[in-house]
Amino acid sequence: MRYYSLNNSSPLTSFKRAVQNGIAPDRGLYFPEEITPISKDFINNISDYSNEEIAYEVIKQFIGDEIPTTILKEIIKKTISFDFPVVNLDENIGSLELFHGPTMAFKDVGARFMSQCLEYFNQNKTEDITVLVATSGDTGGAVASGFLNAKGVQVVILYPKGKVSEIQEKQLTTLGNNITALEVDGVFDDCQEMVKSAFLDKNISRNLTSANSINVARWLPQMFYFFFAYKQVSKKYKDIIFSVPSGNFGNICAGLLAQKLGLPIKHFIASTNINDTVPKYLINGVYDPKPSKATISNAMDVGNPSNFIRIQELFNKNLSSLKKSFSSYSFSDDETKIMMKRIHDKFNYISEPHGAIGYLGLKKYGLKTNEFGVFLETAHPVKFLEVVEETLKVDVAIPSQIKQVMSKEKVATSIANYQELKIFLNR
Ligand SMILES: *Cc1c(COP(=O)(O)O)cnc(C)c1O
Repeated sequence: MRYYSLNNSSPLTSFKRAVQNGIAPDRGLYFPEEITPISKDFINNISDYSNEEIAYEVIKQFIGDEIPTTILKEIIKKTISFDFPVVNLDENIGSLELFHGPTMAFKDVGARFMSQCLEYFNQNKTEDITVLVATSGDTGGAVASGFLNAKGVQVVILYPKGKVSEIQEKQLTTLGNNITALEVDGVFDDCQEMVKSAFLDKNISRNLTSANSINVARWLPQMFYFFFAYKQVSKKYKDIIFSVPSGNFGNICAGLLAQKLGLPIKHFIASTNINDTVPKYLINGVYDPKPSKATISNAMDVGNPSNFIRIQELFNKNLSSLKKSFSSYSFSDDETKIMMKRIHDKFNYISEPHGAIGYLGLKKYGLKTNEFGVFLETAHPVKFLEVVEETLKVDVAIPSQIKQVMSKEKVATSIANYQELKIFLNR
């Protein structure tokens, strides 16, 4: 499969180069040249197939012959070796739990898939590739775990000092080996800026790539979730609506791509916190990105969602056709907390802020009687422990994989500015 840059001034490139580059030389995001629907028969009989078979069917065209079938199947098997259950809360709402992976965040799937692709493509190279990533919390842990011990791959994670939770910090600072954590004296935007500067800097001696959802190998496997959910609910319901808590809009963009492949989804809702660039755009047609504001759903504190341009491409930049498949609503921290409480009181279900925003999106959309709404629960409540325990007045049991990481020792190098990052990378 070939990929073009959404800035349209870089040459077409292979999947391999798109993964290794992260972003195109003209700074555009890569987008697949062709999107071919998968067979209707396959979708109609989806419950006859295993998750591994479904994932292979969904992803194969985006890779083409660049990874041999047997290896691609191996990669898929290792990527999705856990459950993706839809837990019904009531007759017409379910929670798609995407937190059963090793770091209990949905980003595990993309990180594990991407690391294995990079490892495969880099196997005969003498020089390592370095994955450079800025995190406000959840990405760092998933990337550290997904890339641990990947051969030929070094990982450098920048995170803002004192701005990530204790669990998140442990997840990204305790693994060692090919994973290095840099603790930045600043906020997330500073980390992101430094990463951007490094990608543009001709005087960095390493091969760099990114592991944010701009990378096609992290973005594309997120389509699996929508197929797995569809498999579980389509026997009983026809009109399925997804509400996706959105920050950089990579996850929901993968859902829209799944729809383009023929998955019969009636409607998508991008639910956001007060970082409402996209909900505003749908109302007034003006795309006006703002600096991000801090919220309790901090994995979605994004003022200029990087994947929204891919969504526009999927709809030929036509706002009215986008609106037929897609709505977007924003919610405050207060609304989020009230909904977390209500979900707990009514269904005895512990959600965390991102999932609760997903639920809020379904409520605002207003499901009709024959419709089934699925909201994506993108992290385990333990990942946002403080706000969950404080809001719900409950104790969240700490799962064993989290306990294990909490007992390890943090190792991080402090940096304060871009110059120090550059020195670190060129050592
Ligand atoms: C990253 C993240 C999101 C947002 O996903 P996008 O693909 O960036 O829209 C939502 N919830 C959690 C818990 C996350 O870590």
